[in-house]
Amino acid sequence: MARVFNFSAGPSMLPESVLSIAAAELLDYRGSGQSVMEMSHRSKVYEEIILGAQAKFRAVLGVPDNYKILFLQGGASAQFAAVPLNLLSGSGKADYVLTGQFATKAYKEAQKYGEIRVVASSKDKTFSYIPELKREDFDPEADYAYICMNNTIFGTCYKEIPDTGNVPLVADISSCMISEPMDVSQFGLVFGGAQKNVAPAGLTVIIVREDLLGKQREDTPVMLNYKEMADSDSMYNTPPCWPIYICKLVLEWIEALGGLTVMREMNQKKAALLYDFLDGSQMFRNPVAPKDRSMMNVTFVAGSDELNAKFVKDAAAAGFVNLKGHRSVGGMRASIYNAMPYEGVEKLVAFMAEFEKNN
Ligand code: PMP
Repeated sequence: MARVFNFSAGPSMLPESVLSIAAAELLDYRGSGQSVMEMSHRSKVYEEIILGAQAKFRAVLGVPDNYKILFLQGGASAQFAAVPLNLLSGSGKADYVLTGQFATKAYKEAQKYGEIRVVASSKDKTFSYIPELKREDFDPEADYAYICMNNTIFGTCYKEIPDTGNVPLVADISSCMISEPMDVSQFGLVFGGAQKNVAPAGLTVIIVREDLLGKQREDTPVMLNYKEMADSDSMYNTPPCWPIYICKLVLEWIEALGGLTVMREMNQKKAALLYDFLDGSQMFRNPVAPKDRSMMNVTFVAGSDELNAKFVKDAAAAGFVNLKGHRSVGGMRASIYNAMPYEGVEKLVAFMAEFEKNN
């Protein structure tokens, strides 16, 4: 069967070799006589999987010892509430930078729990850039400052981590997690849904500095309580067993490639190929400020709604699927996460050149 090149923003492609291992181990996981989907999360055999996945995450991303890695459920969206519930217990104030729909959703959710301020926003230009941020822009009394590192819908990404002084920085890294090396020590907390670069949907990864644990509001639901989840090693209740298993395989795949430095080189090469084509095209255009372009989500338009629609349709027929932009912005978006092979982008660019010539 021919596999398509899937440019979906998430859930998205997984490495083919990971899928092959999962398929080979599907009925009988390494002699256990059962599938990972069937086994007790309290069993010895599963314990090795979850602890192994956590250890691999720590090793591959270089997570310092004073950070906990949590494997939870509820998607990144549950974290929009969990972050303020767990962290807003000092001044009750937090600073948010609005760079797109997900940052705005997080801001709205946080407003239920404290005094939330917008530090900067790029809404004036349809979120097509990342605002300049200086340390003085942030309230030194805030319990935390919040950014969305890579804006999946608009195709922008922070290239520099804002300096927030002593205020812990919280970042939504859903769509850039483990796509390149990252200095976790610059953050108080990072989180992301796994369904882009890490695993199938159902797993949310949270990496939190230990001194931020135990500050939650009294009424924090136990399922959103970082301290409770850290104390139970993400096993307070049944964890998302299968995505955690795939996460471990994906991390092993990255490790075998040479780690995140190599992953970044591969991702940069793919993104450069596509952006260079867009910059030279007479028909297609990327609307993002060049310095803020995302390496993961490449947005583009073809000049008219009719041409955009025709492009998405023709591309799907040729085996390039899910290229339609987010329903809130239109146009096109190619999400080129870790598992998208270079060949996929190469063939897409050739297809775009041909489309341009014929239309
Ligand atoms: N944040 C970002 C940056 C995202 O891209 C997404 C999903 N596309 C979300 C949050 C929401 O994630 P979830 O569906 O896991 O709640």
